[in-house]
Amino acid sequence: MIESLLIFWHFICTRWLPHLPAEFKLRRFLRRTVRECQHYRGIEPELKKFPLMAKRNFLAHFTDLNRHHITLEAATAAALQAERERDFLPQLPGGVSVGLSSGTSGARHVFLVDRADRCRWAGQMLASMLSTHSLLHLINPLRPPLRIAFFLRANSNLYTTVRSRRVQFSYYDLTQPFAKLLRDLKEQQPHILIAPATVLAEIANHAADHTCVTQVISVAEVLDSRDRAHIQKSYHLPVAQIYQAAEGFLGATCRHGRIHLNEDSLWIERRWINESRDRFQPIITDFSRHAQWFVRHHLTDILRPSATPCPCGSRTTSLESIEGRAEEILWCRDAAGALQPVFPDSLRQALYSMPQPLDLYRVEQHGEEWHIHLRNATPATEAAVSSALAKLLDGLQLNQPAMRFLPWSDQAPDEKQKRFRCISPPS
Ligand SMILES: [Zn+2]
Repeated sequence: MIESLLIFWHFICTRWLPHLPAEFKLRRFLRRTVRECQHYRGIEPELKKFPLMAKRNFLAHFTDLNRHHITLEAATAAALQAERERDFLPQLPGGVSVGLSSGTSGARHVFLVDRADRCRWAGQMLASMLSTHSLLHLINPLRPPLRIAFFLRANSNLYTTVRSRRVQFSYYDLTQPFAKLLRDLKEQQPHILIAPATVLAEIANHAADHTCVTQVISVAEVLDSRDRAHIQKSYHLPVAQIYQAAEGFLGATCRHGRIHLNEDSLWIERRWINESRDRFQPIITDFSRHAQWFVRHHLTDILRPSATPCPCGSRTTSLESIEGRAEEILWCRDAAGALQPVFPDSLRQALYSMPQPLDLYRVEQHGEEWHIHLRNATPATEAAVSSALAKLLDGLQLNQPAMRFLPWSDQAPDEKQKRFRCISPPS
């Protein structure tokens, strides 16, 4: 009961009430942090006085950086047990749930959420994502509960918090056979479909009947333009995006389709990664998390801010795109021999502008070599891919790496699907 009220409160605050200025919330948060958090005691409560926090450091001080004094070992053990037994209900003392973010290449990240976090998350998420149509459905007692299908690699108490009499929330475990999930999906007939982008595209390929679906939401992976077009065509609906990580609820699309950063809960500093200052990595301070303190966390995601204000009228930062993580940048040498980044977005554009559409693909950089895996490869597609990439690198005035075509292999279903990955940069 208290949970429902809390969720409702956060829903109303997010959707309808005027928001306090972020500067005010940040100052209040920092003053509390130096008082309550062991790790930051004695620091002057000004943002720049706090050290930048890298993941390694955060893990090293895990116990001091959470309110419930849970050790990293205890949290990791609980998370791994939940993963192994596919039972995501157990909680640690203090009503704390532990989640495991679907990190990349072994760098999985444990995070803690308590009841206050869960209710705020659920309220904010519903308030930002529910369309007016879904909201009217939800509050109309004459209609059946709103059905939400949620595909992810790991469930968590965090996500099931949205469950209620009016919301039927079903978790689809991506480690189960896909055919079974499709059968369950057909039975459930969801109104709202939430899944990683590549999974949405795969569902669109297989499920013929989408008549009940009124909202499609992509999570956890970069939504690239090709998947977006394919999904929109199949469902006759725009695809919304939720941008989330262990570091919190980072952003979501507005009704105009642009992703806005969640600056109601986050203070975001920008670390520009190129000279033209059109791409940055965010340094986030989350002033709404309760179980853990997140102050000046440096994320490796690459964000491209919009050059123009969003027509929706929101003053929060809107993004042109989320391009991916830093490990998705490939590297080539310029004429002077210096390494230059090739961004995943330009790589995708190059491959999608080929005359023949490409099936699944993956490009991995191993030093000076690019290993290219194509599903259903033919000599013609290999030649077309080579020339598309060569043309891109020519345009960027970069030297060509050696390109090797290798047989296709599926990635593990519980692994984040990455189309570009730098395993090792050229030395
Ligand atoms: Zn907008």
